[in-house]
Amino acid sequence: MPRKLPAWSGLCAMCGRWQSQAVCSACVRTWRIDLPRCLRCALPWPDAARAGACPACEARQPEFDRAITALDYVPPWSGLISRFKFQRDASLRLTFVQLMADAIRQRPHRVDLILPVPLSAARLAERGYNQSWLLAKGLGQALQRPVTDEALVRTRGTPRLMTLDSEERLRAIHGAFQVGPVWAGRLRGRHVALVDDVLTTGATLDEISRMLRRHGVAGLSAWVLARTPTPDALMQPSTMAGASEDDAAVPGSAAESVGARGSGL
Ligand SMILES: [Zn+2]
Ligand SMILES: [Zn+2]
Repeated sequence: MPRKLPAWSGLCAMCGRWQSQAVCSACVRTWRIDLPRCLRCALPWPDAARAGACPACEARQPEFDRAITALDYVPPWSGLISRFKFQRDASLRLTFVQLMADAIRQRPHRVDLILPVPLSAARLAERGYNQSWLLAKGLGQALQRPVTDEALVRTRGTPRLMTLDSEERLRAIHGAFQVGPVWAGRLRGRHVALVDDVLTTGATLDEISRMLRRHGVAGLSAWVLARTPTPDALMQPSTMAGASEDDAAVPGSAAESVGARGSGL
């Protein structure tokens, strides 16, 4: 059977002009919201350059050390992300990986291993692929870091977390992830990046991070394609200077840069 052409077929998914990328660079410039963000949770946070973490993260720290997002989960990106997630639009994957890699490179930090957030077996069977694994593989290539989808195992599915309150959410997600048996002794002291498509409540990434810390993981980054903003978070002026320095980063240092070699992996 002849290979099906991708739905995109060379037209920008946003403006419809003929392009060599799924989303043309003019549309990326127009629609990507470049705001200073909390270094911990990636929510827009005007004081990021001075304070680093937003008040919510100061009050209750995420289990991961840093979150980096390429986009906000708002239209028109949210529509394209659904297309990528449910229709496996391969042309969008490359654009999304590039946007994520750009955002990650602005916050140099050590990463020894990239792990996608796994889907439950039922969800994987229903969808046929894990969109976070597609992003993680692309990032492994772009950033020259090792990547595997075997170190994290989802032991059961969870209801849609957005529909639950925070207590129910914690209960639903608790114990839903494990480390694959071969990997149990191999994560100690490692710096791991977790890849997910959308960061909303952070409950999933928190639960995985907590579990990985018990296995001795030393550093945890959350790399996401899009961050769901709080309702008022996008009301800040877009001309503010961004905070590009990560709290734990040594910019340009070989030991702390994403391009640095991990050991033993
Ligand atoms: Zn365009
Ligand atoms: Zn925060």
